[in-house]
Amino acid sequence: MTKGVYADNAATTKISTVALQAMQKCAEEYYGNPSSLHSLGVKAKRVREEARERIAAVIGAKKMEIFFTSGGTESDNWALQGRAFCYPSGKKHLVTSQIEHHAILKTAKFLQELGYEVSYLPVDDKGHVEPTALEHAITTDTILASVMLANNEIGTIEPIRELAYIAHKHHVPFHTDAVQAVGHIPLSVDNLGVDMLSASAHKFHGPRGIGFLYVREGTPLMPLHHVGSQEYGLRAGTENLPAIMGMTVALEESCKQMDYTKEYLTGLEQIILKGLRKNNIDYRLNGGQERLPGLLSLSFRGQEGERILHRLDLAGISVSTGSACNSHRTEVSHVLKAISLDAAYAKGTIRISLSRDNDTEAAKKILAALLSDAGRFWGQ
Ligand code: PLP
Repeated sequence: MTKGVYADNAATTKISTVALQAMQKCAEEYYGNPSSLHSLGVKAKRVREEARERIAAVIGAKKMEIFFTSGGTESDNWALQGRAFCYPSGKKHLVTSQIEHHAILKTAKFLQELGYEVSYLPVDDKGHVEPTALEHAITTDTILASVMLANNEIGTIEPIRELAYIAHKHHVPFHTDAVQAVGHIPLSVDNLGVDMLSASAHKFHGPRGIGFLYVREGTPLMPLHHVGSQEYGLRAGTENLPAIMGMTVALEESCKQMDYTKEYLTGLEQIILKGLRKNNIDYRLNGGQERLPGLLSLSFRGQEGERILHRLDLAGISVSTGSACNSHRTEVSHVLKAISLDAAYAKGTIRISLSRDNDTEAAKKILAALLSDAGRFWGQ
């Protein structure tokens, strides 16, 4: 049997060996509850705090500004609801963008149902939020602005520094969903100027079900969970220490290799893009000039993304579509709608997301499968 190609790394990555080993060691050696007063508990607490410090160091934060969560969805929910619930009456306006992940969009909709107002900033044809649009959207009632650092469907990197600057000019705290960016592009919370930042370990070769929310010291935030005193009383529940350790090791590992990985993935991208061009395939590459390394959102004219996905799957290649599907028809995603992608291309969108686990052979296999699919179905 030939080796399969996993090219859906923006959905989730394979856990790295060192992260897995760190988790096992942690589970075997530090199984005490960090809240317990006996020596095993104290040891576990020390390990948790060491992990917090190491994560903080990677993003240029203070240790006490890192809060462990169950991942990106929880971090995003917490950032928005935690801010909103600081203002049960009075100020009730939030600003976000049209191309956020559903963890933000659905939370925003929920808050609208509770009576909060939400403005959804439009994007240009590459997926960039225009900083002046944020300036116009902010009102005296605005309690939070939240724009993602990198888009999960098309990979566009947003001008977060400029956006945060504008929000602060109007005394509005700024949150960024950096779930696709952390571990992939260099970032520092001070450089970006953000007050809150969401991250998720399984996007950078760490374990699932663990992530963190960075909250700048002095940013008022209500807890989502009540009961326990963990995480400085703001996020109750016994901590998943092995997962925390796996995330820490995976983050350090990804960041150490970041420059090399970026160059390596650009090389793999070029194998696919050049090959498509050479064979005169009618496609568009979505997203801005500055994109997440290895993420290719490709739209093929007159095609169905879901059909391409299944053909590639039969060839042992895992990718995803750029569209949310239901059983009757392929719907164009909110992101592709927001960038006003030509209808002739929009439905034929797939997302290939490569990682350091992929090699040249994998990129060539993807290209060959796309070309053979083209030959079979596009009359070439
Ligand atoms: N935000 C973005 C941009 C994402 O891509 C994802 C996951 O795909 C999430 C949030 C949710 O993260 P998690 O899967 O850790 O809940």
